Amino acid sequence: MSKVRVRFAPSPTGFLHLGGARTALFNWAFARKHEGVFVLRIEDTDVVRSTEESVDVILESLEWLGLFWDEGPKVGGEYGPYFQSERLHLYRQYAEKLVQEGLAYFCYCTPQELEERRQATLAAGKSWRYDRKCYLLTPREREKLENAGRKPVIRFAIPPGHTTFQDMLRGEVSFENQELDDFVIMKSDGIPTYNFACVVDDALMQITHVIRGDDHISNTPRQVLLYKALGFPCPQFAHIPMILGKDRTRLSKRHGSPSVTYYRDQGYLPEAMLNYLARLSWATGEEEKEIFTREEIIARFSLDQVTKHAAVFDLDKLNWMNGVYLRQASNASLASLLEEILVRNGKVRREDLTPSFRAYCEQVVAIMKDRLRYVAQLVEEGEYFFSEDFPFDEEAVRGVLFEEGTGEILRASLVRLQKVDDFTVPLLEEAIREEANRLGVKAARLIHPLRVAVSGKRVGPGLFELLAVLGKGRVLFRIERALRMLEERSSG
Ligand code: GLU
Repeated sequence: MSKVRVRFAPSPTGFLHLGGARTALFNWAFARKHEGVFVLRIEDTDVVRSTEESVDVILESLEWLGLFWDEGPKVGGEYGPYFQSERLHLYRQYAEKLVQEGLAYFCYCTPQELEERRQATLAAGKSWRYDRKCYLLTPREREKLENAGRKPVIRFAIPPGHTTFQDMLRGEVSFENQELDDFVIMKSDGIPTYNFACVVDDALMQITHVIRGDDHISNTPRQVLLYKALGFPCPQFAHIPMILGKDRTRLSKRHGSPSVTYYRDQGYLPEAMLNYLARLSWATGEEEKEIFTREEIIARFSLDQVTKHAAVFDLDKLNWMNGVYLRQASNASLASLLEEILVRNGKVRREDLTPSFRAYCEQVVAIMKDRLRYVAQLVEEGEYFFSEDFPFDEEAVRGVLFEEGTGEILRASLVRLQKVDDFTVPLLEEAIREEANRLGVKAARLIHPLRVAVSGKRVGPGLFELLAVLGKGRVLFRIERALRMLEERSSG
């Protein structure tokens, strides 16, 4: 096999969604496995919808996932440029070649004329396909239209017959050519359409395998015909299944965000995301094994094992998997992620990120890691770590704090904790257990209201760990505040 060259070819019209990321991942893994080349090409021919921000987000998302490309934006390469907007001369050149060879032709029909004919055909009960009106124009007729100021598009003349290709996942796929229209390859403004630009680029960039979403499968016969017409060898195709939401509709916001950067910003770990995406549609043959390192993905990846049916995005599973990776991550790295999220959410100012705040974040992470699915959860559900103004669960207040006798218990705990100089887990535990003995109650009778007082919640990390991390100042202040809440209640 000649050297494997694959590409990921996003259109920069928005963020990188999970489906795109997985397409990139399969291409990357295939290239790495076969010691080939992974090309990144930006398909920015949609001038209206393509934006630079979107290019940046796509590059950032790929870099975050560690899907580094060997050729493309930033890194360059022998087959550049890698932005389609910088390759317009090439498309023009190849389109003209097709016209000269009679394989493509200028079409002067206006959208309005096309629409009128389409309507008339449909009204006659027939299905509409471009009627080749301009196929047989004489040079004189063309000249007349040109002189009238009409700017032509270039259409590809679909030959008769049928088109077949071997899909690496689905086997033989066949289309009747008459189903395909004489589609436009160059628009009147000199911009190529997707199918044409894609073929010219894949051919010139010597792509050996086109691995892409199966939403493109109906484009492939058109592309195969173009390869033939242009005299280029056809690459191999592998159309990978879509990622759907749990209700089997197209992945959208309703299923959890479809954008890669959302997960980055929520404090998911890139290795976890990569692992999760890899397992979507990839039956590894070891069904028990879920956790795959980057190296394992590369070593084991095979297109033969990619399933044909759509994959279902399961946020719970991603959360579980991310939890596994979070527990393996160092507290320092998680603390740094946490700080970024706090700053981004306006919970902490960047200038307040001191070494002691970092140390505090590390402690928070250390006691919360086991119950964490993603780091931003600490901001969403752990306000009590970072602010005195945290919410109290109504049910916890009613059921635990306002329980008969809690006032005395909290007051006694306060007095006892005031005497603990060093808020370490063993000393705190000893103090609370002794106080429980003295009061003749179970330790839990102290632990539950203390937890609500310092965190507003019924559940959370171990209480002694929590008190130790929050520190004496915060803890005493919060117990006093809870006592005031109790007093206000009994006086009000
Ligand atoms: N720009 C196309 C897309 O984003 C590329 C499809 C392909 O890989 O051929 O869907």
